[in-house]
Parts: sequence; structure tokens; C-alpha cells
Amino acid sequence: MTGASQPISGKIKIFGRRGAPLGYMIRDFLHRSDIPFEWVELTSDEEARAKAGVSSLDDKRLPVCIFPEGTRLECPTIRQITEYLGWLHDPLRSEYDLAIYGAGPAGLSAAVYGASEGLATILIERYAVGGQAASSSRIENYLGFPDGISGADLAERAREQACKFGAEILLGREAVRGEFPPGKGVGYLADGTRITARATICATGVEYRRLDLPNGQRLRGAGIYIGAGASEAALCSASDDVFIVGGGNSAGQAAMHFSRVAHTVNMVVRGDSLSSTLSQYLVDRIMSAPNVKVMTNSQVTAVEGEEILERIRVTNVRGGESRVYPTHWLLVCIGGEPRTAWAEEVGIVRDEAGYVVTGPDLMQNHESPPGWELDRNPYYLETNMPGVFAAGDVRHGSIKRCASAVGEGAMAVAFVHRYLATG
Ligand SMILES: Cc1cc2nc3c(=O)[nH]c(=O)nc-3n(C[C@H](O)[C@H](O)[C@H](O)COP(=O)(O)OP(=O)(O)OC[C@H]3O[C@@H](n4cnc5c(N)ncnc54)[C@H](O)[C@@H]3O)c2cc1C
Repeated sequence: MTGASQPISGKIKIFGRRGAPLGYMIRDFLHRSDIPFEWVELTSDEEARAKAGVSSLDDKRLPVCIFPEGTRLECPTIRQITEYLGWLHDPLRSEYDLAIYGAGPAGLSAAVYGASEGLATILIERYAVGGQAASSSRIENYLGFPDGISGADLAERAREQACKFGAEILLGREAVRGEFPPGKGVGYLADGTRITARATICATGVEYRRLDLPNGQRLRGAGIYIGAGASEAALCSASDDVFIVGGGNSAGQAAMHFSRVAHTVNMVVRGDSLSSTLSQYLVDRIMSAPNVKVMTNSQVTAVEGEEILERIRVTNVRGGESRVYPTHWLLVCIGGEPRTAWAEEVGIVRDEAGYVVTGPDLMQNHESPPGWELDRNPYYLETNMPGVFAAGDVRHGSIKRCASAVGEGAMAVAFVHRYLATG
């Protein structure tokens, strides 16, 4: 069964130095993939020699990963780890009924429903399964999990379910281009692989926005974490002051998650309050957490540090006064934007922000979109290319919730059946 995990009987040990961006990438990938690991932080050349078998803390072979059965990978790329886990393979068929791009909640749901309903289904993901949801420490509003569930656990369960029904999953493969001649979709992956399918679902979600500041990119993974940093909370200590940029649910979840381990958590938000951007259950918890502080009308205007983030500047957006705070922790949870340049290249209609437009939103004065040649209107989740659907956060007007992404994935498959039956 492709996409199924190689059983890992124990923890993967990762040896590295603090603030190494690759160390963070590996932790993030394994956390999202729900694979147990242990991070061993090396603090001296002696430790580097004794524990990791390298010459010093500056040795280019760090980080070193040791797998439970003894395999050692030095300074591995995510692709090499994916390959080692047995997740990197080529498509098994020359043609599929359904190709789904993006293995977040929408894509995983489409894979479960597509495969379980007899469609030859392939799911292509550029990184790890779970999308944004896999970076959530605890999703508490998803139906059926009254105590909440970690996003990584939810994603792993969905992956298993999709594999059980026979969906093929290609991980670590990025789609870069598409062609959609009548009755067929051809997706081109970055490594040159070609995927042909009778119907296509685009479920590529959104990509987190970055903090556009000098040093921001250099310190990424070395104190600055884009997203909720769920893999990192275990490394945070009781003396650490954590700063989180953003006032949405992902920022709120991260604040509560880190508040259990950090000295203080400081939410830096542009607006006057949290209540317009955050679910009430999170507002209540944040307000009653003694070590969480909300800095309203504020933004981070500078980040500094040599090898690791050392300090940030927070500026009041109203008065202009600013203050410098020492910290090794800055989580950036300022939402995302869709990466859909490929859609524009093939003439798929997008809105101004790049979200893919579907169904009724394509209609103008009750007329089908220009170039539409079928004697029916586009189905609810269908783009202006017949047989090409969009589901989840990537879609114009979507709700940006796990449940709605999952619902749209299932619904898109129902329209795929109609399309395959009647065109
Ligand atoms: C930290 C955090 C916490 C959240 N908490 C909650 C919550 O508690 N409750 C809730 O309802 N919602 C929550 N959300 C929102 C929810 O996770 C999203 O609405 C949901 O994940 C959207 O699913 P999606 O499948 O549409 O897109 P995404 O989750 O964005 O997944 C898209 C996938 O497509 C992949 N991809 C993108 N481009 C390509 C390409 N070219 N080729 C191949 N693959 C590609 C990406 O790598 C990604 O895996 C949270 C979000 C975050 C970030």
C-alpha cells in the first residue's frame, strides 16, 4: 500500500546545536508526520564528539539523525528522510480517475472519499500530510473530539484511512504546472513526474505569511518560527519569554500551548482587542492565563541576533513608541495566502488575492464564465475548467476551518462522480 508508513519501533534521535534551522525543519517534519523523535541539543565540542560522532559543534555533518535500528543520516534533507521512511516513490499507474493536489484536511478527505468510492485516486503533497492542521497543537472544535486532538494525530489517522481504502499518496513532491485538455488533467511535478487523471481536485490551501523584516529570513528556524511552532514547545524552558505575532486562532492556540512551559507568552496584535479575530473559548482561556499578556495596537518592527534570535523591537502602531525585548522565541502566526500562480497560467479564474473561484461565484449575470462550453453551469466546487475542482482554504469564499475543508473534500468527490458520469 503506497503512502503507508515504514513501522518505526522507537524514537529517532536527532543530534544538533541550538538554533540550527535544519534541526528545526527536521523536528517540524517529524512532528507533523506524527513520528516519535528525541532532540539532543549539543552544547560543546566534547558533546558533539561523544554523542554525535562528529568533530565539533561546527561540523557540517550536523544535525545527525540516528534511526531506531541504527541507520545514521548526516545533515539529511527532508527528502532524504522521506525516502528513508519509504514514503518517496513513483506513481503506480499511468492514468488515474482522480488526482488531488495537497494533503491537508481537504485533500485527505477527498482521498478517503475518492478511494473508498472506487476511484483510482492519487494524492500529491509537497511536504508532510496534514497541511496547516498538522501544525496545530490541539484542535478543539472538530466534531467528534470533545477533548481535542493534535493536528498531527488527526492527519496521521486520515492518512491511514486514505491508504486503507487504496489511495496512493506521493509525499515530498511539489506540483508546479498543470494542463487541462478536455476530459483530462495533467499535473507536472517539480522532479519531472507527470500525473494524468480524468478529474483533478486542487486542495493546496494557503502558505503562511512571513515577517518581512531585515534578518527575518536568516533567523528563520533559529528563534523565528513561521506558524504555531507545535514541534518546539518541548524545547521551551520555564525561564523563556515567548512572543507570538498575530491575533487569530492559530496564534491563540500557540499562546495556550506555550503558556504551559514558558515563563511568559506575549501576543503582539495590531488591533484593539482579540475578540474580533479569536474564538471565544480561546479569548476566555487567554484572559485567565496568568502568564499570557496581550500587547494590542502593536507590531514587531525589528528582529536581531547573530546565530540565534536575541531580541525584538515592538512598536505601538498608534503612538509610535517602541521597546526592545530580549527573547529567543518569536512565533509568526499571521495567516496565509494561496500559491496559485499555476492556475493563472492555465486560465483558471482566481480572485484578487489568488484564491481559486468556483461554481456560483464564476457566474456573471446568470451566464457561465467566458469559454465555458458545456450545457450545464459549473458545479459548486468546479473551476472554470470542466473537471478541475477546488476544495478547502485555497477556494475563494472558503470558511478556513478543518471541518469545512474536510466537508469540501468530500463534496468535491461527489461532483467528480457527476462529472465523470456525464461530463
Ligand atoms: C496553527 C493552526 C491552528 C489551527 N487550528 C484550527 C482549529 O482549531 N480548528 C479549525 O477548524 N481550523 C484550524 N486551523 C485552520 C485549518 O487548519 C485550515 O482551515 C485547514 O488546514 C485547511 O485545510 P486545506 O486542506 O484546505 O489546506 P491546508 O491545510 O493549507 O493544506 C494544503 C496542503 O497542500 C500542500 N501543497 C500546497 N501547494 C502544493 C503543491 N504545489 N504541490 C503539492 N502540495 C501542495 C501543502 O503543503 C499543504 O499540506 C488552524 C490553522 C493553523 C495554521
